[in-house]
Amino acid sequence: MARPSVHLITSLGLSLPYWKLAKYALAPAVAVGVGVFVDLDHLADFVDARLRKDRHLVILPLHGWELMVVGWLTWLATGRRVWLAVACSAYSLHLSLDLLVNKPRAWYGYSLLYRASRGFDPKAIWPDGVQTHTWMKAKSIWQLWRFI
Ligand SMILES: [Zn+2]
Repeated sequence: MARPSVHLITSLGLSLPYWKLAKYALAPAVAVGVGVFVDLDHLADFVDARLRKDRHLVILPLHGWELMVVGWLTWLATGRRVWLAVACSAYSLHLSLDLLVNKPRAWYGYSLLYRASRGFDPKAIWPDGVQTHTWMKAKSIWQLWRFI
């Protein structure tokens, strides 16, 4: 899994042109807020995995190409605001890094609709099921810090 520290560094790097060229001082905060904290949706899967002992799902409700398209269309429709460009850029970078690092069977593994059509089965998304998401094996939520 692309670790939060990688998402932090890349999000900060992505925010620099917005900060310097567009003079948007909040660019680092927006980029990190979106580019890192989108992974908080893993907590939904973590809780689901703890509740279902027999079956593991990969729902990732905030990871979807559809959300990226909606974000950019919103940016276009609302006057191309800088903060939304930063947020959409950070989100797009996050998904692209996840795609490169986590290596799903296909790019559409990060489609919410595709995952839903497969019942959120991790084996339909990743060749090794959950191997790339070893953090799911943490015994408690407090052990998750090891994967940062
Ligand atoms: Zn992610």
